[in-house]
Amino acid sequence: MSVPKTKYMIFGSEVEPAGDLRTERNEEPVNIVDRFPYCGVTFSSNTRHLFEHHYAVMAGKATSVTNALFALEAHVGTLSVPDGAQLYYARIDPYLTYGCEIAIDVDTVGIKKLEDAQLAYLRRLLGLHPRSIRAALFSETGIMPIRYRRIILALQYAKYALSQQDSHFVKRTYQDAVSLFRQGKSGWVGDIQNCLSRLPVPVAMQVESLESIEGIEKLIEDVEKACAQDVFDGMQSTKTPLLGGPNRGISPESIQSVLRLRKYLRFVTIPAHWKALSQFITAEHGLRVEIERRSRRGDGTSANTDTCRCRYCDAPVENELHALFECNRLPSLVA
Ligand SMILES: [Zn+2]
Repeated sequence: MSVPKTKYMIFGSEVEPAGDLRTERNEEPVNIVDRFPYCGVTFSSNTRHLFEHHYAVMAGKATSVTNALFALEAHVGTLSVPDGAQLYYARIDPYLTYGCEIAIDVDTVGIKKLEDAQLAYLRRLLGLHPRSIRAALFSETGIMPIRYRRIILALQYAKYALSQQDSHFVKRTYQDAVSLFRQGKSGWVGDIQNCLSRLPVPVAMQVESLESIEGIEKLIEDVEKACAQDVFDGMQSTKTPLLGGPNRGISPESIQSVLRLRKYLRFVTIPAHWKALSQFITAEHGLRVEIERRSRRGDGTSANTDTCRCRYCDAPVENELHALFECNRLPSLVA
């Protein structure tokens, strides 16, 4: 054992150790630490949650890569959304999901850091405002919200552990975790249950689900349905009639229909054009209905549609649908 390379931590004690910890050969004392990265996961003993620093470190790395990637645009031009989605899975997602099988998301402050890093990347990719509508970032790029993705990966790890031979250490550990939960003790399985119940659309879990491959697969399906419902609900706003419109073929029953890299982001190649479309669909435009909303946001009152008359043809409301399909006063706007 190498003493200089060895550290130790004490969890759950507010009392300092009485003396130095030494090996039998009585060499230099082993150093006590309150934070240490092990296999890429930072453990900390002086924080409320064991993995609090891990979340901060991973969110910081994802943000650094985001900044580096978008800084390249000055040299290589605007990153297209399909390329950006590919780069996301190659360079951002690994940080946002690192250790998700170990660090189950019961630390709401920690997971918020990862969510913020993901939202920042997607907003920059789509050319949207820092406070733009959240659901659109996922529905238009096909990328899953990180909170759902992490718990699905953790459940897939449970499936892997359960499918191993009985003598495999990972299966023994997994079965111990289930057994601890059945005895009413806190641990990995309890964290999974907490995490599922705290999702924006909660998922109920019975411990029996984790004792069979079919049960875990059903649980993963339930998480996907919850994710689809969550994003779908976020798209249903009177502010964004085009985003959650009935003609887009989007159903909360099908996650593939809710999370999809949309055609206009794949086939419109001029950056200014697809950015204008993504901004238009998420109510980041200069039409009168949005101008009225912004002016009313400050005093807390809702927009008055009587004052949103079209500036060109005097129709009752100047909104997205009117500008695209009805207004014919401006020849430059008529397709
Ligand atoms: Zn008009």
